[in-house]
Amino acid sequence: MSSLSYVSTDNNSAWSTFLAQVERVLPYLGDLALWADTLRHPKRALIVDIPLEMDDGTIRHFEGFRVQHNLSRGPGKGGVRFHPDVTLEEVMALSAWMTVKSAALNLPFGGAKGGIRVDPRELSEKELERLTRRYTSEIGTIIGPQQDIPAPDVGTNAQVMAWMMDTYSMNIGATTTGVVTGKPIHLGGSLGRVNATGRGVFVTGSSAADRIGLTVPDCRVAIQGFGNVGSVAAGLFHRAGAKVVAVQDHSATLFEARGLDIPALADYQRQHGAIAGFAGGTPLKEDEFWHQEYDIFVPAALEGVITPERARALQCRLVLEGANGPTLPGADDILRQRAITVVPDVICNAGGVTVSYFEWVQDFSSFFWSEQEINDRLDRIMREALEAVWQKADALDVTLRTAAYAIACERILMARRERGLYP
Ligand code: GLU
Repeated sequence: MSSLSYVSTDNNSAWSTFLAQVERVLPYLGDLALWADTLRHPKRALIVDIPLEMDDGTIRHFEGFRVQHNLSRGPGKGGVRFHPDVTLEEVMALSAWMTVKSAALNLPFGGAKGGIRVDPRELSEKELERLTRRYTSEIGTIIGPQQDIPAPDVGTNAQVMAWMMDTYSMNIGATTTGVVTGKPIHLGGSLGRVNATGRGVFVTGSSAADRIGLTVPDCRVAIQGFGNVGSVAAGLFHRAGAKVVAVQDHSATLFEARGLDIPALADYQRQHGAIAGFAGGTPLKEDEFWHQEYDIFVPAALEGVITPERARALQCRLVLEGANGPTLPGADDILRQRAITVVPDVICNAGGVTVSYFEWVQDFSSFFWSEQEINDRLDRIMREALEAVWQKADALDVTLRTAAYAIACERILMARRERGLYP
């Protein structure tokens, strides 16, 4: 449980999950464990009020957050989430996972995250733009290309990043493309960024599958979430010959034992904004999704969905965490006992922030790379990171998650110690 006065005592909260993950890595950190408190204390958390004039002339207020969890290794980095369930505590956990993710991939960033407690689907395009611009202005004192660089997350996209970039640039009087990543291509965005997270899930997932003796073209895959991460990962598994037998999103669960037609489902989802009503699969009840036979299970939506109960029910060999924080600590233990391999979020979904790093570098140098170069570098970095984590896990006889934390936390805490305490 946290000692911070401003967090709840909920043991299933995302922040509690993060704290439990830190606890598990302490025995493997040697002397550096003395600095671990730094991970339990986010460096900076900004809460902002966002008053928004709605199209009908009324005014509504929304809660906005930006948390910089740790900046020991570089500027803050992490997405901005627009979702009705966003809380300060959730953003804290998401920012902490960014710290670990950046370090696990050895990217020169700390960890940050932002969010607005809003359902973006209820807003018009103009309302969404005003909301984004006011939020950006409010957090403008702590973001910047050398301070903290936002990016898309659940409920945000390249258009939102364009508004953020423009607002920040107007406020400081200079076009500053490097203040956000995940921008449209012609505004300093990077080729390959949109697909990068899903691609990373597929690359690390295929490599993990090989290592545990699964052959991807023979695999049955289930995907929870069919947004930017889930749909891209599903498409790549489908193209590799795997059968994506089940997909669940907020609207429905679809099952097809011969494999769903993923390109057709993706077209349908683009047109309708959800998968419900797609004719090419049998609808299942929400809970039945957790009780089918799969080889690979990909949570690619929100945190906390793999509970101990579901971990006992899941029938698969491999879990690929496309989402951030999808597995509760108790569920992690059960999956390990059941010999189900989990490729943890901080490696599995790090493709997005890795190409964000490429985008940031390209913006600085105003020299842009080809999609081939980006994908080749991304694939190599992801494979090498997984290899290092796998070796560490074997050496310490721990889960891939604890191994990834051991590698990452050593880098973070070493930087913390070497920088020393100010004043
Ligand atoms: N929101 C993504 C994540 O959770 C990407 C963050 C980024 O590109 O900075 O990793």
